[in-house]
Amino acid sequence: MSLPAFATLAPAEPVLEDVRARFSELEARFDAAGSAEERGQVIADWDALSREMSTAISWVRLRFRQDTRDAEVKAARDRMDELAPKLQELEVGFKRKLLEGPHRAELEGRFGPQAFALWDCDRRSFDPALKDDLTQESKLTADYTELLASAAIEFQGETLNLSGITPFCQDADREVRHAAEHARWGFFAAHQAQLDTLYDQLVKLRQGMARKLGLGSYTELAYLRRQRIDYGPGDVARFREEVATHVVPMAHELRRQQARRLGLESLAYWDEALLDPAGNPKPQGDHDWMLQRAQAMFDAVGGGLSPFFRDLAGGGYLDLETREGKAGGGFCTSFPSVGSPFVFANFNGTEGDVKVFTHEIGHAYQNFKSMGQPLLDYTWPTIEGAEVFSMGLEFLTWPQMEQFFGDDAERYRRGHLTESLLFLPYGVAVDHFQHEVFARPDASPAERNAIWQELERLYLPWRDYGDLGYPARGAFWQRQRHIYCYPFYYIDYTLALTCALQFWVLARKDPQGAMARYEALCPTGGQRPFQAMIREAGLSSPFEPGCLREVVEQARAYLD
Ligand code: ZN
Repeated sequence: MSLPAFATLAPAEPVLEDVRARFSELEARFDAAGSAEERGQVIADWDALSREMSTAISWVRLRFRQDTRDAEVKAARDRMDELAPKLQELEVGFKRKLLEGPHRAELEGRFGPQAFALWDCDRRSFDPALKDDLTQESKLTADYTELLASAAIEFQGETLNLSGITPFCQDADREVRHAAEHARWGFFAAHQAQLDTLYDQLVKLRQGMARKLGLGSYTELAYLRRQRIDYGPGDVARFREEVATHVVPMAHELRRQQARRLGLESLAYWDEALLDPAGNPKPQGDHDWMLQRAQAMFDAVGGGLSPFFRDLAGGGYLDLETREGKAGGGFCTSFPSVGSPFVFANFNGTEGDVKVFTHEIGHAYQNFKSMGQPLLDYTWPTIEGAEVFSMGLEFLTWPQMEQFFGDDAERYRRGHLTESLLFLPYGVAVDHFQHEVFARPDASPAERNAIWQELERLYLPWRDYGDLGYPARGAFWQRQRHIYCYPFYYIDYTLALTCALQFWVLARKDPQGAMARYEALCPTGGQRPFQAMIREAGLSSPFEPGCLREVVEQARAYLD
């Protein structure tokens, strides 16, 4: 394979009228088609158009996040945010034709029922009457992104963004951690009114969209928008209860052990990030060194990952350095008409760099291996399924962690497993919060904070914010980007983690076998709904009773 250099990509900005004409032509050709073969060709042409649009959207949004200060790129991004819902309307129109037309059975036979289940979610969650609301939603979430990217925190004589302050929040010196948390939350406190108002506007906007579709609440709409096919809010609520029953007591015990290791009577919030008194292990080199080590790691892992990573890095499909003006976070995006994913991160010299990086490469590899799927919608699984590939790779690369951490690799592995277990209660808290928020969409910002505090007592009973006034008043959730930008996208991580931990259990017994199972699952992409995909890989669905208990027992045995 060879990918065109990323720097040479410049997808044309779609012109609405041209795209509309191309859709009309496809629809006319589909109606006139006289055979299954001809209909198949029209669908292939439609898929190529969809991939072209998807590439154009991903590219503009990525370019903006690479430099949020570039006025030209920002203007292009704004135009794309206006255009994207209109393109989506054309897509949904074509899908509706396939769903409602007389050839559905023939097409389901050809492409499988999952595409139709996905499109049915799209159809039910979209209406032209929502167009302006969706544009407004994009604007508000972009405002949140910009606000957080604008952080310029003065600390120890440096000006830092939210990513840059993180290493100080993990410092081995307790006073430094405490001061760094004060500085970090000072930024949020200074923008309280904006953060409260933005979220309030988003909640009311989202609830309004659900009402326009005749749905009882935004929760229902969110499940449709997230294309949750083979489970519902009842399953998720039971999963949260399983976490409260099986994981919270163990997580509380892990926090007590952590306090003892740190020589503290009790753990304050600013101690939580320091799992180990020796300091969290750090990768032993800079950005370029990390890339070399990563190549050595994937060469050792073998299979398709080695050539894949070489081409991705060689083609410029990685942007991992922290820069002023660059948006925070890490993610994987995709240019499906080019055939390549792209990985974005903000290295800050912590062990998190290795984690984010292996995570996003897991997404990228699955997506790359699924590019040959006949439909754009099959190039990714739905999100909770996609996260199995990213989190799964974090665990499957465990034997290679010496590449980054040398003698500290075992400390990294123990920390990774411990953090994973500690994450489950936080993850379900973020999910539970959003279910509560949309059950009471008229709640005030103070009432929302009270909801969060109650959930912290349930899922994070050890948490003590001390003199950090802002999170102590229940506003911790405001730093959780997903709550603003990707509503109800969070339980996905906990469901996927439960599956990724099963890969970890398998890999302890049979590393090659576990990796082979992972490789075999990658090209299946989004052909199946979540639980069916998990069972296809020979894993247990997180909703099966006892699944979580077994994984937690294995993890406890390892840590003991
Ligand atoms: Zn991910």
